[in-house]
Amino acid sequence: MTDDQSRKNYLRARKEQHRTGRIGWLRAAVLGANDGIVSTASLVVGVAAADATHANIMIAGVAGLVAGAMSMAAGEYVSVSSQADTEKADLDLERKELEADGESELLELTGIYVERGLDEPLARQVAEQLTRHDALAAHARDELGISEKMPPRPGQAALASASAFTAGAALPLLAAFLTPIAMIAVVVSVLSLGFLALLGSVSAYVGGAPIAKAVARVSFWGALAMTATAGIGKLFGVVA
Ligand SMILES: [Zn+2]
Repeated sequence: MTDDQSRKNYLRARKEQHRTGRIGWLRAAVLGANDGIVSTASLVVGVAAADATHANIMIAGVAGLVAGAMSMAAGEYVSVSSQADTEKADLDLERKELEADGESELLELTGIYVERGLDEPLARQVAEQLTRHDALAAHARDELGISEKMPPRPGQAALASASAFTAGAALPLLAAFLTPIAMIAVVVSVLSLGFLALLGSVSAYVGGAPIAKAVARVSFWGALAMTATAGIGKLFGVVA
């Protein structure tokens, strides 16, 4: 391999790393928006199928938006907080172990580097230098897999999730608001499937995943959800 080729490969590898770094928040945002579109569109289509008034459809849609956004925020807050608690407990334990038995911890770190492919003397040397530099950071990173560069932020994660859901939910809601009642079920279904497909293709493009597959996947699940609620709406609309 020429120098030029290996440099290109190196740069490509770096670019891929960037991609995976971006995937985390992107996936959360897309997931939130997807949820917002699917659940609100399904709600609107279901209520519309039950022959509700335009005002009732809008009330159901807005209530669905608020309930969904709150539930996303609460779920995200709880999940990220408990992750943060676990990481903090792990770090506290590690700190105690480092104070109590430095030599065992040095052996442990050496073992980790040997497992990753360094030979014993070099692994020992690396472990000693990193321990001198910042023992807790070295154990956190290489033993526990905790990166201190990105501490979990429950409040921020909750806000991001709720915003993404709201942005997604606003699309079918706006469509329902602007459409005459007789057309609501059809217009909201078609537009929402379009939004889902667009969102799926953008996220697949940014994440470097196959686009057609992503579009087919979100469209299928979206269509299934709306068909199910439309069926239920029709059923109860007839009974009531
Ligand atoms: Zn350790």
